[in-house]
Amino acid sequence: MKVLLIGSGGREHALAWKIAQSPLLTKLYAAPGNPGIAEHADLVALDIDDHAAVVGFCQQSEIDFVVFGPEAPLVAGSSDRLREAGFLVFGPSQAAAQLEGSKGFTKDLCARYNIPTGAYQRFNNAPKAKAYVRAQGAPIVIKADGLAAGKGVTVAMTMEEALAAIDDCFEGAFGAAGAEVVVEAFLDGEEASFFVLSDGRHALALASAQDHKRVGDGDTGPNTGGMGAYSPAPVMTNAMTARTMKDVIEPTIRGMAEMGHPFTGVLFAGLMITERGPELIEYNVRFGDPECQVLMMRLRSDLLPLLIATAKGTLGEVTAEWHDDAALTVVIASKGYPGSYQKGTPITALPANSDTCRTFHAGTANKDGKLVATGGRVLNVTATGSTVGQAQARAYDAVADVEWENGFCRRDIGWRAIAREKAGH
Ligand code: AMP
Repeated sequence: MKVLLIGSGGREHALAWKIAQSPLLTKLYAAPGNPGIAEHADLVALDIDDHAAVVGFCQQSEIDFVVFGPEAPLVAGSSDRLREAGFLVFGPSQAAAQLEGSKGFTKDLCARYNIPTGAYQRFNNAPKAKAYVRAQGAPIVIKADGLAAGKGVTVAMTMEEALAAIDDCFEGAFGAAGAEVVVEAFLDGEEASFFVLSDGRHALALASAQDHKRVGDGDTGPNTGGMGAYSPAPVMTNAMTARTMKDVIEPTIRGMAEMGHPFTGVLFAGLMITERGPELIEYNVRFGDPECQVLMMRLRSDLLPLLIATAKGTLGEVTAEWHDDAALTVVIASKGYPGSYQKGTPITALPANSDTCRTFHAGTANKDGKLVATGGRVLNVTATGSTVGQAQARAYDAVADVEWENGFCRRDIGWRAIAREKAGH
């Protein structure tokens, strides 16, 4: 089978590494890819937002299966163009990708199908949104409706912050994504990420993870795309997973099918585990980055047949096997991130890969035969261990072997799970 993987980050490097191990694979292409992905795939210099170019490449190269990493082309309808041209695709339709592309869409789905989530209202103007916020009081959460690269959410602890966030949205801080605003009740609890595959009818539970969004140790400082993650998430016990499947995931899959937008692909539920049980914070329609890196390290099964079953509607016939070991990834980012940072700084040494440790490339390029950093988040040093603590120790041992002067990382990825391990539960 000839496979095209769309994307160029650490998530896609982890997917490429795993897909490349499949006996079903004859050839893997990645567009546009990165130097890490190039170890497993032929890179194709395609503009992934140019849907006609992607379809053209697939026709020319006789691609059998297309796997989407990032959400943007899905929300823009690239998977529909490929399906219309007759290709088998892993990734939801544009209509189903609204689960990530429109927070209001997802909240309405939750209301209609009784899926637990914070109480909310949708607004298209500031005065009405402000009146609602004043009536509700703080803390309260203000969200731009559309895709805002993870920046459109304000968890406002005070009324002033909430009102300012409403102004930001309607004054265009997030462009078109902020033309509509969702105001949502503040949920208190522990967050967890939960991943399932769905073929439109069945849902296959994958695994859970927790990430660290803040840039600084102790979960301080500004939000980022994610500075590290580990899997499994201790709060996602078997009982909590079963409840999440029944109360959150299954009604979503059923509801999307009933509404005529069957969801196929990977569904990433951002959950708040509250005193009342799991409540939905948000959906994403792709693997998390860096959560995907830890999931792929833990997945024992061949990934490719799972993705194919998702795309073909035969997910009821497959199972996913997992290693018992935990996995943890440390993101090494360019100094300055998530603010401005220098591009093109040299990376002169990387840790050796082994059965328990692997470095994924997230934002690198080859320049005159040398590896350089091109992104904010640049490397994902990932390790497994019998406990999160052991995985963390192995990951930071490997981080010490990275030679990159302009890089930095958090030193406490996994702290919450490790504190629990130390406390003996
Ligand atoms: P989102 O982009 O919707 O995942 O929101 C980003 C982050 O904001 C989440 O990971 C949570 O930490 C926080 N957040 C979002 N919605 C809520 C909520 N209703 N209550 C508390 N925190 C929230």
